[in-house]
Amino acid sequence: MEELLERLLEQCRAFTSWGQAADYIPELAKSDPASLGIYVIGSEGKHSWAGDCHQPFTIQSVVKPILLLQALLDNGTEHVMQRVGVEATGKPFDAINAGDQSLDSGNINPMVNMGAILMCTLIQGKDYAERFQRLLELTRRLAGDEEIDIDEAVYCSEKTHGSKNRALAYLLKSHGLLEDDVEEVLDCYFRACSIRVDCKALAHIGAVLSNRGRLPASNQRIFPAAMSRYVNAILMTCGMYDGSGEFALRVGVPAKSGVGGGIMAVVPTRMGIGIYGPALDRKGNSVAGIRLLEQLSRELYLSIF
Ligand code: GLU
Repeated sequence: MEELLERLLEQCRAFTSWGQAADYIPELAKSDPASLGIYVIGSEGKHSWAGDCHQPFTIQSVVKPILLLQALLDNGTEHVMQRVGVEATGKPFDAINAGDQSLDSGNINPMVNMGAILMCTLIQGKDYAERFQRLLELTRRLAGDEEIDIDEAVYCSEKTHGSKNRALAYLLKSHGLLEDDVEEVLDCYFRACSIRVDCKALAHIGAVLSNRGRLPASNQRIFPAAMSRYVNAILMTCGMYDGSGEFALRVGVPAKSGVGGGIMAVVPTRMGIGIYGPALDRKGNSVAGIRLLEQLSRELYLSIF
């Protein structure tokens, strides 16, 4: 497996020059666009890796499935479905969907920013500091790393340059879909996006989702199997932004990307995969990361289709 990962990584490294690091959050522009790393945790517990897989980066949108899990654990499926739907928007992650239809709860997708901001209100806790702390603890458990914390510089950068997310949150507020103080909700969202991870952490989260809610090593259950079906289904249709359809064709497994360059992929019953490649395509997905997953999927017959 290591040899295969090394070979594919070297083949795909050239694609890093096809994209650019995100710069709308200035702190993210400091990442090295030539980086590329992969980490795989198999269902039998074997770890394999290649490239820049120990490089830390911020989780960004890969936190959305964790937010969804926390919302499901705290409220149950029915309540969550009344607040955020499951249908793909087919629009960019930060699109301001102001049409009446898109502001219907059923059309607010949890894998794009508007839905993720709304999900922060579904986490239970006496205040937003406690809500974020509970999300962080779930992330640590899923990632198998108790040391995980936020990257203060990225958090401050997001908070300072988050006008579009503010617009989305106020839009929700103006339609009566968000009751709490907008700045407090956004603070929780910005912190959530700024959680610092590496490829191993993302692979571990993917492995729990591939193992139907159980930790890969101990088999300890973290969430019910029904919730992994719920989350994996949404990742399949909406996890790669408005590039999810093409990703389903090219790779064929549930996955979530983030503008920090991370991709967390779930190969049901087989493995979790963590990728880092901060050079992004126009849709916000890691260019070389997708190539790497595509090649790996072809070599190991990973597509679920
Ligand atoms: N923090 C980023 C934002 O809100 C997350 C976007 C992403 O990774 O897709 O713009």
